[in-house]
Amino acid sequence: MKIYLDGKYYGKEEAKISVFDHGLLYGDGVFEGIRFYHDRVFRLAEHIDRLYDSAKAICLNIPLERAAMIEAVLETIRQNELHDGYVRLVVTRGCGDLGLNPALCPRATVFIIASKITLYPEEMYHNGLSVVTCATRRIPHGALSPMVKSLNYLNNVLAKIEAQLAGAGEGLMLNEQGFVAECTGDNIFTVKKGEIFTPPISSGALAGITRQVAFEMAAELGFRISEPEMTRYDIFTADECFLTGTAAEVIPVVTLDSRVIGDGVPGPITRRLMERFHQLTETIGTAIY
Ligand code: PMP
Repeated sequence: MKIYLDGKYYGKEEAKISVFDHGLLYGDGVFEGIRFYHDRVFRLAEHIDRLYDSAKAICLNIPLERAAMIEAVLETIRQNELHDGYVRLVVTRGCGDLGLNPALCPRATVFIIASKITLYPEEMYHNGLSVVTCATRRIPHGALSPMVKSLNYLNNVLAKIEAQLAGAGEGLMLNEQGFVAECTGDNIFTVKKGEIFTPPISSGALAGITRQVAFEMAAELGFRISEPEMTRYDIFTADECFLTGTAAEVIPVVTLDSRVIGDGVPGPITRRLMERFHQLTETIGTAIY
């Protein structure tokens, strides 16, 4: 495996970060998870835009121009001779001293890992996921914007632990007001009477790239889609439910807190979106080779 680290490529054992890196000491940094399919990177420009927006929001200066960053992502995949897989692109505040002052970190650290992806078990796409509501609330905008894809994922990790202890596939996170925000690593959607719904970003969700693709697919397939504030009631009473995310793609949800959603099987609109999503990943994207 060849890993990009600040402009050079290193083997898995040699790619090392200092213990003084503030990405490690404080979770001070941003990242992206990106997929590539059949020699094409899916939605690369959107991921790069979100990375630079996340960095801007935390006053982190990325030491590479966008074009150079795109090329670094593509070259890392090429160096590993991969055709399908996952890219983890990380920018940390870089090395400083033990204090949290970012002004003492002269240069951001950039690393890129390209590898094969371990998918959710196939069975979950056929039968649907079980989701539980987590007691851990999504972090409020006033503390740290959930729109920043930062290295500080403890909020999501704690919720994920709850979901795992409950034996569920994903955990639903509510915001401080009790409205649905998102799942620990995916955006959430419902279908009711042929219309699609998802909570607004302002409820505390990451502006998912796959979420955006879902909007585009809905428009193309002729489904109305809207973003009302939502509560668990809307999920309990939905006909269908599904999640979107770069790793998960589009995945059906069949229970929330052990209550059956709709017929308890992946619904027809969810299945159409899953099918269309696969067609898109097979036909569009930035050429790698
Ligand atoms: N919400 C959170 C908290 C996430 O970490 C992610 C990414 N895994 C998503 C939603 C989905 O975003 P995307 O479709 O861009 O992967």
